[in-house]
Amino acid sequence: MAKIVSLCKRRGFVFPSSEIYGGLKSCYDYGPLGVELKRNITGEWWRTMVHEREDIVGIDASIIMHPAVWKASGHVDGFCDPLVECLECHARFRADKAPRLPPGSEVAYRDGKTREKKRGKVEARGYVCPECNSPSLSPERMFNLMFRTNLGPIESEESTVYLRPETAQAMFVNFQNVFTSYRLKPPFGIAQVGKSFRNEITVKHFIFRSCEFEQMEMEYFVEPGTDEEWFAYWRSERLKWYLSLGLSSEKVRFREHAPQERAHYAKASGDVEYLFPWGWDELEGIANRTDFDLKRHQESSGKKLEYVDPNREDPRTGAKPFRFLPYVVEPAAGATRSVLAFLCDSYDEEPPSEARAEGRTVLRLHARLAPVKVAVFPLVRKDEWLTGKAREIVKEFWRSGTNSFYDEKDAIGRRYARQDEVGTPFCITVDGQTREDDTVTIRYRDDMRQDRIKVADAVEIVRKKILE
Ligand code: ATP
Repeated sequence: MAKIVSLCKRRGFVFPSSEIYGGLKSCYDYGPLGVELKRNITGEWWRTMVHEREDIVGIDASIIMHPAVWKASGHVDGFCDPLVECLECHARFRADKAPRLPPGSEVAYRDGKTREKKRGKVEARGYVCPECNSPSLSPERMFNLMFRTNLGPIESEESTVYLRPETAQAMFVNFQNVFTSYRLKPPFGIAQVGKSFRNEITVKHFIFRSCEFEQMEMEYFVEPGTDEEWFAYWRSERLKWYLSLGLSSEKVRFREHAPQERAHYAKASGDVEYLFPWGWDELEGIANRTDFDLKRHQESSGKKLEYVDPNREDPRTGAKPFRFLPYVVEPAAGATRSVLAFLCDSYDEEPPSEARAEGRTVLRLHARLAPVKVAVFPLVRKDEWLTGKAREIVKEFWRSGTNSFYDEKDAIGRRYARQDEVGTPFCITVDGQTREDDTVTIRYRDDMRQDRIKVADAVEIVRKKILE
């Protein structure tokens, strides 16, 4: 992780927020390459989930919603984590994420004041402080994770609003607007990519868990009775998506939740997990939310949220029309968390070999995700014809919608190394021979192979490789 955090800072993927003021806990800024990677991830998600399907449409809802939404959804009363304070080192942490130990077992830790070694026994609740190992802990207090603010100039209970802790609720409250304006019929989905906010008690592992983050969520509305099939379908589709973008198959898995792990409304749920440097952890949650959300919003808004099919008979009564509250299957992924997973997975260090005197660091990102797709170099900087030609080629790539980058600084080997480190899959070099036959060298990041190609074919060759 230390290597990835350092690469992110050095090469402009991710910076601590407001760093000149010492940074702000758990807030991060995406730099020139990080924003490209994040946009490519959300763009790929949008392409597979929305553009390439007839049954899913997108929305972009406001972050601040009517506070009644969060009352109905259960977030005002129940979106809480159990907060505990360590009485030795005063660290605050989530009880449900603390290291578990059998009650009564002995642990060693240091006294908070004197730093002397102490021994103690794990209490009945069966966990210790994750920072100092002390079993001496405050009672658990439920802490609501929603950020509150006020809408309008007066700070009062009535003006309290929340920054959304998930994007999903906007799909439920817009359910009827979307299906009537777009004439959709279940099964259909509504998708959204956007920021969410949670006042997380423990923020750890860089951008894995932050207070402001981005989600990619889709609510799939289906006829009750078909929900189990759709749950299985989305579980397999979402796993395939990560694999299609190059995550190592031995590092991604789906883990079904045990009944006690499930949210109270979920009929089935589980996580797509990735093997991060600290172990398996959640990348995406997939849940069969039944009709819980639509039912709650129907009750508290007083608006009917049923789907009415005039051409079908109700199977219970035999009469037309068939009215039902759809069940919902939800794949809820983290965009910022995916950035970290793709960075961890693609990071590679190659030691020096017989063929190469120097080792290299290479991000083996899928070409679709790579922040820069192609870098174009003139072999020598001082030759105006070469620099002019290289700039022309860069412009051709821009015109075709391919993010490309011009670089003339340092020796060619250094330029390749800089691009390898940020995952650029293709480098094109313009040299003396280009002047004679209008060909250039294309060099491939992963195996460092070099081919001679026609300038006129360059854009098409790269486009095809990206689609592979
Ligand atoms: P956790 O148990 O890790 O707190 P969760 O199960 O509450 O997460 P969901 O509500 O299922 O998370 O959110 C869906 C997805 O949104 C998660 O799989 C994750 O990718 C992302 N996500 C949730 N909280 C955060 C966060 N604080 N920082 C970054 N991504 C997050």
